[in-house]
Amino acid sequence: MDLTLTESEAAFRDELRSWLEGNDPGPPPSDPGEQVRFELEWQKKLHAGGWAGVSWPQEYGGRGATLIEQAIFLEELARARAPRPANILGLVMGGPVVIAHGDEEQKERFLEPILSAEEIWCQGFSEPESGSDLASLKARAVKTNGTWKVTGQKVWTSYAHAAKWCMLLARTDPDAPKHRGITYFILDMDQPGVEVRPLPQITGDPEFNEIFLEEAEIPDENIIGQVGGGWEVAITTLMFERAGLGAAAVLGLRRTLDELVEVIRERGLQDDPLIRQRIADLRIGIESMRLGGLRAITETMRTGVPGPEGSLGKWQWADYNQGLTELANEILGPEGMGANTEWSYRFLRARGNSIEGGTTEVLKNVIAERVLGLPRFR
Ligand SMILES: Cc1cc2nc3c(=O)[nH]c(=O)nc-3n(C[C@H](O)[C@H](O)[C@H](O)COP(=O)(O)OP(=O)(O)OC[C@H]3O[C@@H](n4cnc5c(N)ncnc54)[C@H](O)[C@@H]3O)c2cc1C
Repeated sequence: MDLTLTESEAAFRDELRSWLEGNDPGPPPSDPGEQVRFELEWQKKLHAGGWAGVSWPQEYGGRGATLIEQAIFLEELARARAPRPANILGLVMGGPVVIAHGDEEQKERFLEPILSAEEIWCQGFSEPESGSDLASLKARAVKTNGTWKVTGQKVWTSYAHAAKWCMLLARTDPDAPKHRGITYFILDMDQPGVEVRPLPQITGDPEFNEIFLEEAEIPDENIIGQVGGGWEVAITTLMFERAGLGAAAVLGLRRTLDELVEVIRERGLQDDPLIRQRIADLRIGIESMRLGGLRAITETMRTGVPGPEGSLGKWQWADYNQGLTELANEILGPEGMGANTEWSYRFLRARGNSIEGGTTEVLKNVIAERVLGLPRFR
């Protein structure tokens, strides 16, 4: 691909840069309980400036940005150290899924409050016995007197404590083959049949939750796609999730690497050959990830849909982020591992990177089978 920005892409970047300079979100709150409020305020700013949902088509309130502009957008946000918006799951997955599979009434009802962050979304896919093997999920939806009633448990649900809507997968036909009997619902979290219990992350942050559903009610109009056709909609959601990582992840890694090099210099360790080798390995890996990401964009421009190679970027991101934070802690020693230091926080948070959005082992299977064309393991 041609890596030079066109005139209009450069103008897009410059407009965004100057908007970011004039709209500094300020420092993140020291109290983790204030994080969602901080992210909410940031998304409202983005929305007011016309920068929420840049990739969404203009007819649905987005900016209709090209894939290159989306990459520029994510890169510039990361460069400015902007926080993530509170409705990240709605912007990256919920909205695009409603646009791709929803009907006109659903688009009318759900899209604008996602952009404005009036209604936060969460993703209720994982269950205690169903993570990687998502199609084995057990939450059960039964239609009674014209309304669906869902009973079951979800787990690791990020943002459920703040969410109005949940992208919920539930089994509607227990007799159908496991991929066929699943339906994709939009569940109203604000009702008696829904109980959200916080689960602290290893960092101590109240990042995700368990959801207990006891005959929670969902009307027919909140089904995305067909009854029993939820698996295809779920796959679209996961493709948007992995493709959404992209350029911002590379920039975040490069920034962490630069900060780590500073730590190394401050301690006079820049000539240590073993440390130099580890840094060089990480730098080469991050650069190969950047180039692979650009190749994936070229491929998506050709085919119109993100392909399985998005799994490679997700795997690399997890590996390099864990590698960087591990090296930082080796260099800092006891100082780095002390409670509540920035590097100890990053080290602990990075552990989840190889689990969230698909575990590294499962991504390797996807790459083996769908990118390299190796025979299926099972
Ligand atoms: C920070 C964070 C945020 C999350 N947010 C959400 C959320 O908002 N919504 C949501 O629904 N979920 C969320 N999750 C859950 C996440 O999607 C699951 O944890 C993940 O899919 C793995 O499922 P599991 O935990 O059940 O592990 P399992 O699937 O039980 O896997 C256990 C181990 O077995 C390995 N394994 C499993 N199958 C295979 C295979 N076929 N081949 C090789 N190895 C295999 C796995 O790699 C792993 O090491 C989040 C997780 C984290 C860490």
